[in-house]
Amino acid sequence: MKRVEQILDTQLQSEIDTFTRTHLLRDRVQRIDEGEGESRVGLVTRRRRHYLDVPIPSYRKAITRLLLSDHNLSIEHLRYPGRYRAAAPRDLRLCRFCRAAVEDEAHALLVCTGHDKLAILRRDFLRDIRGPVGGFERKRSADRPYEFLKRLLSLRAITGRLARFVADVFDVYDGCARYIPAALYLPAP
Ligand SMILES: [Zn+2]
Repeated sequence: MKRVEQILDTQLQSEIDTFTRTHLLRDRVQRIDEGEGESRVGLVTRRRRHYLDVPIPSYRKAITRLLLSDHNLSIEHLRYPGRYRAAAPRDLRLCRFCRAAVEDEAHALLVCTGHDKLAILRRDFLRDIRGPVGGFERKRSADRPYEFLKRLLSLRAITGRLARFVADVFDVYDGCARYIPAALYLPAP
């Protein structure tokens, strides 16, 4: 049975490490209890994760959708062709609000200033996590929002607040039509 579990974990980890959509699930280290009061930090493929304990279902679903790339942002949706348009290369999956950057998770949550509500939600979120995340301004690097997002996702103390923030930001994006660059539309048959 132990060998079966090892094979299963190896397969799962390989998929997490190679599938495009599981990029936020990579490199998640956790404290591993080794018994007799000993522990070490390492990679664990299967474990009940703390975001699954967010009590409000809509927030829990939002953070789960974020982690699995099962969201409405254009980085995912424009990856595939539509009825009247081609699949978009990454650099054309532009933000529906600012149209100045790729509409990916870190941009939507931590960077975009193209919608007033996004800026307010982000300001309130960063204010609320200042206490639980000691010295977070140092950890927050404006030019590395993706690394900061991964750091936020690893912090158990702010998971509930982060989940609410993700749900609110997804709602803002859901409330506006996606930007589709004209170059993607296919000529009429
Ligand atoms: Zn934007």
